[in-house]
Amino acid sequence: MITYSAPGRVNLIGEHTDYNGGFALPIALPQRTSVIFTPAETDTLTVRSDLAEDPVHIPLDTTPGQVTGWGAYAAGVVWALRDSGVPVTGGTMAIRSDVPIGSGLSSSAALECAVLGALASAAGVRIDRTEQARIGQRAENDYVGAPTGLLDQLSSLFGEVSNALLIDFRDITVQPVPFDPDASGVTLLLFDSGQRHGHVDGEYAARRASCERAAAELGVPSLREVQHRGLEVLDAISDPVDARRARHVLTENERVLDFVAACAELDFAAAGGLFTASHASMRDDFEITTGHLDLIADSAVSAGALGARMTGGGFGGCVIALVPAKLTLTVGDAVRAAVTEAGYVEPEVSRVFAASGAG
Ligand code: ADP
Ligand code: MG
Repeated sequence: MITYSAPGRVNLIGEHTDYNGGFALPIALPQRTSVIFTPAETDTLTVRSDLAEDPVHIPLDTTPGQVTGWGAYAAGVVWALRDSGVPVTGGTMAIRSDVPIGSGLSSSAALECAVLGALASAAGVRIDRTEQARIGQRAENDYVGAPTGLLDQLSSLFGEVSNALLIDFRDITVQPVPFDPDASGVTLLLFDSGQRHGHVDGEYAARRASCERAAAELGVPSLREVQHRGLEVLDAISDPVDARRARHVLTENERVLDFVAACAELDFAAAGGLFTASHASMRDDFEITTGHLDLIADSAVSAGALGARMTGGGFGGCVIALVPAKLTLTVGDAVRAAVTEAGYVEPEVSRVFAASGAG
């Protein structure tokens, strides 16, 4: 019997920078998805989840399109693993999770990475973590059919207690950087808005296209290549909307590096300011926030948070805030009051911290 688990993640800062070859800074969450795998002499993998009524039966020679619904995430891993030459054993798998589903905390990558780790362990194969992330991404892109980058899987696989992960998407490197605000009397609060990002594929595609047009007009393969040239470079972009989208990307990359520097100096006031500046950039330049998320972020700051920002792809999901520990309850209450007053559902508020990665 093999037990393997993998965490959800939250991105501290660096939004929509991944497909522009830029920087992001996620942490692995304490919430995890765990798999208990009992291998058997069979050519089927039977998977149960505590979140689903019925088990899913996955033939080991499965191909995209065969298994749909939640089982597609596990089937996609089976398919992508075998496709990259890893032998996969059948048997039964029991899955449990306390990662919120569909909140933008990456329950999907937690599921993929836990299943992948269990199957690779059973096969007695060690796979480099970056390669595991690519296999998980292939499962999600080509089997499930969700167009996502590598951020989620890298966070779940590389997570470390009391560390954030500085990811450079130009060369796909991951560098742990100390992140332990609690030791400085500062809490990282997570507000799950309950607003789900439906129908956003078109918005995502439009943002991506804007960034690609801007880079093409500047004569570079990705916006990262003009990062060092300052914001004046944006004057050469003819479409004002594309120019604003590109400005978000360039300033956001800068904020990621400034955030890392602020954390190294334990300057959480500065770090909080960067959260708030990131939110404003996503609201005004990238236009991916909603009134609901703006209200959560603004009311957290008004109640004493050092800073707050939406995290994730946008149009719903979660807000994070850095809050002096003694104001945690005050800020939570103030946000709940402001949000319900405005007629939105009450957010789930929780304290989170950097936890360990898959294993
Ligand atoms: P997120 O990754 O932000 O939570 P996604 O839409 O990417 O949201 O992934 C959520 C989907 O992943 C669920 O709808 C379900 O199909 C699948 N999933 C994730 N965790 C589990 C689980 N523990 N059991 C069954 N399905 C899961
Ligand atoms: Mg996901």
